[in-house]
Amino acid sequence: MPAQPLKLKPPTEGHKIVIVEGRLKVPDDPILPIIEGDGIGPDVTKAARRAISASVERAFGGRRRIVWYDVPAGEVAMFKYGELLPPATFDAIREYVVALKGPLTTPIGAGFRSLNVALRQGLDLYANTRPVYWIPGVPSPVKHPERMNIVIFREATEDVYAGIEWEKGSEEAGKLRKFLADELRVKVPEDAGIGLKQISEFKTKRLVRKAIRYAIQNGRRSVALVHKGNIMKYTEGAFRAWGYEVARQEFPKETVTQAEVDRSHGGTPPEGKVVIKDVVADNMFQQLLTRTEDYDVLATPNLNGDYLSDAAAAQIGGLGVAPGANIGDAHALFEPIHGTAPKYAGMDKVNPTAEILAGVMMLEYLGWREAGGTLREAVKKTIAQKIVTYDLARQMEGAKEVKCSEFADAVMRNL
Ligand code: NAP
Repeated sequence: MPAQPLKLKPPTEGHKIVIVEGRLKVPDDPILPIIEGDGIGPDVTKAARRAISASVERAFGGRRRIVWYDVPAGEVAMFKYGELLPPATFDAIREYVVALKGPLTTPIGAGFRSLNVALRQGLDLYANTRPVYWIPGVPSPVKHPERMNIVIFREATEDVYAGIEWEKGSEEAGKLRKFLADELRVKVPEDAGIGLKQISEFKTKRLVRKAIRYAIQNGRRSVALVHKGNIMKYTEGAFRAWGYEVARQEFPKETVTQAEVDRSHGGTPPEGKVVIKDVVADNMFQQLLTRTEDYDVLATPNLNGDYLSDAAAAQIGGLGVAPGANIGDAHALFEPIHGTAPKYAGMDKVNPTAEILAGVMMLEYLGWREAGGTLREAVKKTIAQKIVTYDLARQMEGAKEVKCSEFADAVMRNL
């Protein structure tokens, strides 16, 4: 049977979030698109959606509620509609502004771009945002996981991820090699694939601006610009320079540089000011292990941030508990950072914590902090009671192992 193009029917209840002068105007009953995702996606999103709705009910006593709008993407959409990301799904997320998603399969091979990259680039969701903090009781490979409480703002639309690359031996690689040799006297080996790394002033500044704003609004102590500028001077080095420039030009009253703190304040930051510092990326990896508590908000180019956020997540107990968000000027898409773990698909087995905590981030983004806080505390309480899924149970003594849906039930009881 030929695939039918997808037509979506929005819910008949609820209202749209609208953007007024760059800010969200959130009704009491926002319609929020939700992509269940592939593999374990349906299990974790079903669990999360129940827990999120229950926390809203609990926090606002029925005055507010979410009207979920199921939109397909990934393997289901491919099977039914012949497209991994149907235009109707993309349009719904654009129209309704804020959405929640489960993990999506990225087919490996030619002709497929990552769905996540397509969504990020298509909606210009330039800040991949990952809070990394420890939930007491979650097994961790380090001695002091409680020292980690950071938020990573990773640029998500450029750097080596812009997809500008050519295969070894291709006509394009040949042309570029010739141009580089003839015009710029740069020699690239004949048997090399070639990629271009781009980091721009505009995209760096809007990312760092978001990180600094977040730090100011949330009482954070510092923003560290993570770069490899000692080697890549005009891309990563420029990221560092533009980052400091944003702080100096746009937030002169609210920020102070680490150099100024050392020079003029005896090493102690003035009360209420956010300290802007910079750290070379390789050093950042060891600092996060050895001086964890010295770091707060991190702003990074795309590749550094990708590596760093998984490494940081490992320190607080791994992928099953780590949420993330892709945020633009107003649009935002919330998700767990883990993938589709296909071997557990449909088994109602895996940990929905990361998806639930993505929901906490989403509630906070909507300005519904009471509901977000209530839900986060309920997750903490459930884990403290040692009610956990297999991944944590296998590392904890005396744990009660429950299914994915049962974990959500326990969280809801703890609201
Ligand atoms: P993965 O799906 O994250 O799974 C790797 C392992 O991590 C699992 O086998 C499992 O470990 C553990 N895990 C992941 N999620 C868990 C959860 N909720 N609860 C408990 N344990 C969990 O990584 P992958 O196997 O590399 O990727 C599979 C597919 O997902 C790929 O197609 C990839 O492209 C895609 N992906 C999508 C996203 C996204 O949509 N944002 C992100 C990453 C990957 P154990 O086997 O030890 O139990």
